[in-house]
Amino acid sequence: MPRLDSGIIPNPCLEVDADGVGRLTFDDRDRTHNVLTEEVLRSLDVVVAEAAAATDGGALRALLIRSGKAGSFIAGADVRAISAVAESGDRHRAAEAARSGQALFARIAALPVPTVAAIRGVCLGGGTELALACDYRVCDDDDRTRIGLPEVQLGILPAWGGTTRLPRLVGLRAALGLLLTGKPVRVSKARRIGLVHRVLPRRQFEERSLEFARELAAGGRPNRTARTPRGISGRILDGTAPGRALVLRAARKRVLGRTGGRYPAPLKILEVIRGGLGRSVAANLELEAGAAGELIVSPQCGNLLFLFHLREGARKGPWAAGGRAVPVRRMAVIGAGHMGGGIAQVAAYNGIPVRIKDVRHEAVAGGLAHARSIFDGAVKRRRLKPRDARDRMGLISGGLDYAGVGQADLVVEAVVERMDVKKTVLAEVEAVVGSAAVIATNTSSLSVDEMASALARPGRFAGMHFFGPVHRMPLVEIVRGEKTDSDTVETIAALVVRMGKVPVVTRDGPGFLVNRVLGLALNEAGHLLDEGNDGKALDGIWTDFGMPMGPCRLIDEVGMDIARHAGDTLAEAFGERMEPAASLVALGESGRLGRKGGRGFYLYAAGQTKGFDPTVYADMGQPSRRSTPDPARVRDRMVLAMVNEAARILEDGIVNSAADVDLGMVMGTGFPPFRGGLLRYADDRGPKEVLKAIEAFRDSLGPRFRPAPLLTELAKAGETFHGAFPAARGDPGRTAT
Ligand code: NAD
Repeated sequence: MPRLDSGIIPNPCLEVDADGVGRLTFDDRDRTHNVLTEEVLRSLDVVVAEAAAATDGGALRALLIRSGKAGSFIAGADVRAISAVAESGDRHRAAEAARSGQALFARIAALPVPTVAAIRGVCLGGGTELALACDYRVCDDDDRTRIGLPEVQLGILPAWGGTTRLPRLVGLRAALGLLLTGKPVRVSKARRIGLVHRVLPRRQFEERSLEFARELAAGGRPNRTARTPRGISGRILDGTAPGRALVLRAARKRVLGRTGGRYPAPLKILEVIRGGLGRSVAANLELEAGAAGELIVSPQCGNLLFLFHLREGARKGPWAAGGRAVPVRRMAVIGAGHMGGGIAQVAAYNGIPVRIKDVRHEAVAGGLAHARSIFDGAVKRRRLKPRDARDRMGLISGGLDYAGVGQADLVVEAVVERMDVKKTVLAEVEAVVGSAAVIATNTSSLSVDEMASALARPGRFAGMHFFGPVHRMPLVEIVRGEKTDSDTVETIAALVVRMGKVPVVTRDGPGFLVNRVLGLALNEAGHLLDEGNDGKALDGIWTDFGMPMGPCRLIDEVGMDIARHAGDTLAEAFGERMEPAASLVALGESGRLGRKGGRGFYLYAAGQTKGFDPTVYADMGQPSRRSTPDPARVRDRMVLAMVNEAARILEDGIVNSAADVDLGMVMGTGFPPFRGGLLRYADDRGPKEVLKAIEAFRDSLGPRFRPAPLLTELAKAGETFHGAFPAARGDPGRTAT
């Protein structure tokens, strides 16, 4: 390995073998993944110049670009550097940064010798763009290997050549799949669309990729022409100008349908591709750079980057000062209902053996069937190979007794939502597990502290609140009770991250964080219905704001009985401001159950939504003639009710920081990511303006809109939520400033 005078091996470094193969290796000793930081790019610039010089005399005849890390090639550009440019608000700086990356990769593309990217493990963003600048790409056959361009998820576009080169390589339709969703592809798909030329066995990847480069150095020229579109429709759609125009129009329509035009990045990507059709690579690259400048100064990009950092922070920890996580080798889930089956599936999916226990045979069978159906879905969508799904499903076993529960390092209780049953079950579990085992409850509304009173070791107990459907919802609230010790919090949080989810630590309190805040919005929707507003219109206003579904749809999903129960719990705890709206009380008693019963605000048949049911108003004791609400007012009543409650949650010390609220609401309710989160949205509007609007609602609608004292304080002090409650990990309610 070449070393600098200081003895440090440069990253990347270049070694040229006697047979003419140069190995350009990325290996950042200080990180688990290689990242294209500014420093790394500067070094790459030097190394590429060395490589170019070595081609002159014929010493270098092929270049292999590889990673020294077994699990990853290059994870992308440095998001902190992207954020710095975004924060500068300087679009020219962003465009220049794009141009300089493009120029560097263009020099690689222009090397007069064949170049190969040897992709083993994760290859994302700038890493993929670097690979696209090479003549060939080979990858290993590991199931964990992923190649993608996730930039769109950060509100930007691949602007180091990715948007330009990918469609030229794999065809328009395949490229749009990657560029517009940001979702990485697995090896099989990468091979199928022609993104990689060869797939090599993981075990021999080093030798085989080097062999491939040697073949090239010796003058071999494996076919590297772009994949030719298959079938007549493929040839027309990818291969002709009218076909491509059609594909782009359809893609634009899909993007607008999915995002309502609220995310500029996918639309910009389509614009850059359309502008580049039939033009040179250089002209297309210039469009990319210009688009990068425009996107990076957009508020949506700022908010998405903001959330990215929040999520990364939440997944890193520490989550409890001084705590140490205990490895979880086996799990058990008590209660094989909808949640229990879902939790077991996620555990098994992530390689953890799990035992399910219930009191009824049918329930155990149902829980196992539920888990199996999720695995089947993953196979159908090609997320999992059938054999892997079978293996993972094989990690789940079930029964009616505590056999196998005693060996678990962590047990999640997910039985019926009744304090007496839960206390009994928890005490039974404690009697069979080891003293170091962690016991968690998935309760959504009962007190964790009260449950802890049934245990001899309350320090090893906490809430682990998954959201349904478990395999889809990324958030888990970890509810730290009065007696929960730090090791317990760390153990649960580490497990949550291992399960691919995002932990937010809260204190005990009715509704914890997310359900308490969301409860306010749903109840406000109830008040709007009481006033005679049209339910479907309310849903439309909410989705126009960017929420995944409106309040009526959401209540249908949750189930009217459950929503009613949750509403009562909150009203009992918080009184006046959570007093359930009359229409929701009436609905709770109407016999309508929502989606699960086929009838709620909407009608359902065979799992499909059949449209809004106007007879629902009669069940609410209300006239069927409805008025059309004012969108801005409806939006504010629902959103600002949530902001006001979030302020109280911070006051009560339920969570530490505004960041916890924002992550919780985005990950737990789908609060629109492009808005950065509930309190980021409030900060953008300014606490002063928010307070003014809430005061006006209090005057017209009554004391449920009494402003939270904290909001009043912030408005007076000219402070923001994020300024006053910055992201601080650790102990909720204790470290908040
Ligand atoms: P569910 O009714 O589908 O399942 C509960 C299961 O517990 C049933 O199979 C029942 O047979 C079993 N059970 C009852 N008593 C038992 C006992 N003594 N020992 C073992 N098993 C027993 O309920 P669910 O929707 O899966 O909810 C379970 C828990 O998760 C509740 O605490 C609920 O509040 C919470 N939760 C539910 C959701 C949701 O969306 N459904 C979301 C978050 C949290």
